[in-house]
Amino acid sequence: MENVIIIGTGCAGWTAAIYTARANLNPLVLAGEQPGGQLTTTTEVENYPGFPEGVMGPELMMKMQEQATKFGARVDYKTVAEVEKSGDTFRVQTADGTDLEAKTVIIATGAAPRHLGLPGEKELIGHGLTSCATCDGAFYRDVPVAVIGGGDSACEEATFLTRFASKVYLIHRRDELRASKIMAERALANEKIEPVWDTTVTEYLTDDEGEVRAVKTENTKTGEEGELELKCVFVAIGHVPNTAFLGGLVDTDDAGYIQQKPGTASTNVEGLFAAGDVADHVYRQAITAAGDGGRAALEAERYLAEQE
Ligand code: NAP
Repeated sequence: MENVIIIGTGCAGWTAAIYTARANLNPLVLAGEQPGGQLTTTTEVENYPGFPEGVMGPELMMKMQEQATKFGARVDYKTVAEVEKSGDTFRVQTADGTDLEAKTVIIATGAAPRHLGLPGEKELIGHGLTSCATCDGAFYRDVPVAVIGGGDSACEEATFLTRFASKVYLIHRRDELRASKIMAERALANEKIEPVWDTTVTEYLTDDEGEVRAVKTENTKTGEEGELELKCVFVAIGHVPNTAFLGGLVDTDDAGYIQQKPGTASTNVEGLFAAGDVADHVYRQAITAAGDGGRAALEAERYLAEQE
């Protein structure tokens, strides 16, 4: 029986692993097939304290893993298929059929970028469709691109992309941005950004090589159809928390984010803790996820001490 199973290896998961390992709880970390979380798809991180010169996202994650394993955290690259609780024991089943038992579980599985759900969308990822301007923006120099969405992410991505692209269409389904005033104003003041209001994308059009070359659009008020020529679409319409594998075990909000008891990492299930973007759609920062991981670890430690 494990003391602690940590599911997920972004900032929250590794921080929970560092803390529980240093508390001699011998944690088992289940990393999944794509370990490292969202920071592995970014380049430079400039706002993580302790790195005045910035640090590359993947390097930061490697360092966190190194720190966790140095203190004895064990890592298994398995994907979790199901978590159940019976009495005081959690049963964690992995996709390859392995059954594990634990006294506590920390869920730190993060969130994944949301897509529009158009036909063929998944296949176009990496072929002119992406959710990460930081990762892919530099590939699209002096060509038109589009960002879909009207939130802070869309405005941030659009502004960033003006460093490279000749023009950035900001396609939003309404005529008012959801983004904070400062981000919205910055984006709209940028002469390379052309807002396309009241518009949804209905189809991605590709060239002979299967790369995106244009999008078909529809005006949400008039129904008028149109086409925008571009080389890449950056979808920035929010994220989906990775909670499907939990079934109905734990309380989530309508969007699927795990609900923590106010001011804690605890959930409605005793011994089950949540940390990072899987429970936070507001801050979504590396540092807040790390802090949340530390908090989940301390609470798991306290819970185990109380059980003894
Ligand atoms: P968000 O605030 O939920 O915005 C999502 C945007 O996508 C909205 O404008 C929404 O339109 C649009 N959208 C959603 N589903 C759509 C669909 N199916 N088709 C077309 N458009 C769709 O998400 P976010 O921008 O990723 O931000 C998430 C959180 O992180 C926010 O709290 C934000 O403040 C924060 N954040 C902060 C920063 C920063 O401060 N540096 C940067 C990025 C994100 P509607 O407006 O019509 O609903």
